[in-house]
Amino acid sequence: MENQKGHVLVLPYPAQGHINPLLQFAKRLASKGLRATLATTHYTIGSIKAERVHVEPISDGFDEGGYKQAPSTQAYVESFRRVGSKTLSELISKSYETEHPVNCIVYDSLLPWALDVAKTFGIYAAVLLTNSASVCSLFWYIHQGRLTSPLCPDALPIVLPGLPLLEFSDLPSFLAYPESQSAYLALIMEKFARLEENDWVFCNSFEELEAELVKALFGIWPLAMVGPLVPSAYVDRQIDGDTSYGGSLWNPTSDQCSRWLDKRPLGSVIYVSFGSMGNISSDQVEEIAFGLKATNKHFIWVLKDFEHKLKSPIQFLDSIQNRGLVVEWCDQLEVLAHRAVGCFVTHCGWNSTLEGLSLGMPMVGVPLWSDQATNAKFLEEKWRVGLRARKGEQGTVTREEVEMCVREVVEGERSEEFKKNALNWKDRAKRAVSKGGSSDKNLGEFVAKIREGG
Ligand code: UDP
Ligand code: UDP
Repeated sequence: MENQKGHVLVLPYPAQGHINPLLQFAKRLASKGLRATLATTHYTIGSIKAERVHVEPISDGFDEGGYKQAPSTQAYVESFRRVGSKTLSELISKSYETEHPVNCIVYDSLLPWALDVAKTFGIYAAVLLTNSASVCSLFWYIHQGRLTSPLCPDALPIVLPGLPLLEFSDLPSFLAYPESQSAYLALIMEKFARLEENDWVFCNSFEELEAELVKALFGIWPLAMVGPLVPSAYVDRQIDGDTSYGGSLWNPTSDQCSRWLDKRPLGSVIYVSFGSMGNISSDQVEEIAFGLKATNKHFIWVLKDFEHKLKSPIQFLDSIQNRGLVVEWCDQLEVLAHRAVGCFVTHCGWNSTLEGLSLGMPMVGVPLWSDQATNAKFLEEKWRVGLRARKGEQGTVTREEVEMCVREVVEGERSEEFKKNALNWKDRAKRAVSKGGSSDKNLGEFVAKIREGG
């Protein structure tokens, strides 16, 4: 179908929460007949499955082990900027010797230097923001000087156009605890300082989901929503529909999950996952474990390094018998799309939040860091698809709180309302990316421009 001009290079940051949406973006370009190449690091390239999307390696300077091989986040980020710029440039130069010269780079929020590469070649540049537009607007407000990081003590609660009132516990950690995120925060602020220099600013969200923000910033902030970047095969529960795409960095134990789920009644299982980063404390794991146990419900829990995170892992597994399954990694969408799953206990990473909404899942938010607290607030107060768990005095969510939230969402007074709202969001999400929907239109306009060449 690649019968027209235009070739887009899509550049993800090599972490799971970034590869997934950018690969999906590339796939949608390909399904609109555009040539799309995903350029990813040597360390991650072996994980990418893609049929119509071309895949090429670039280097971050740590070809053997990726960021884990780097002495620090700062060192990794600097190396990626230096070596990445060089290898990305080589890739573009090489394309000029073929019939498919690259004329646009779509790069991840965490790779702001790609803009300079695009400028050197005089080609289009587009950034794809992988957080919600509401969270991104906070960065933008910092850049505008309407908010400071670190926060002024008298800035709370935060009141800004298009956003609900934000208390300290609602804030992303780049605002609440900026010292813990300095390397990434610097990168993100670098990008926001130069947002206007991009030809497009895309966001993995959809207009209906963040309508107030879109309205408040209309005409001020040139943001094009193109999400949710969630494969539609799962949304339609045709999970055999399209397995030719994927970029899982770990091997899923999906067969085991599916077989286990096949034997459970409709909507009876709680799916529990805290994302790909593994940054959950042992104390928190202990509380989750006993909270889940106390619900008396079936559950699948994704937890890397389970044996070391829980004090008595064997006794715990014995005590829940076949009511719970703990796995290192699964195909999350396949599990969420399974008919037996009825509730998602999530850390509220932005991808997981969008996946839950896209699949119509009632949710319990247990945010850990980054933008998760803000997403959890929205889940409860704005989208009204579930509850967020509150931290206790020790700074962890207690087992009682876990049990209470799960019970309320699954069988409490408002459980039917949560279910209904979740299904409504599923519908709206699907409409946004279907032919003529808001996100599809934005994508279509981009594709038309790229096809003109230039
Ligand atoms: N599609 C579309 N706009 C979108 C996403 C998908 O028109 O934003 C169409 C696409 O062209 C194809 C169908 O929906 O005809 C299914 O898309 P595909 O499975 O290739 O991608 P996905 O929907 O999973 O992104
Ligand atoms: N994921 C998965 N299997 C798992 C856990 C997570 O496939 O066992 C995927 C999940 O579907 C999502 C991504 O990993 O697309 C995690 O991204 P998110 O933004 O939710 O969280 P992060 O890992 O960035 O904290």
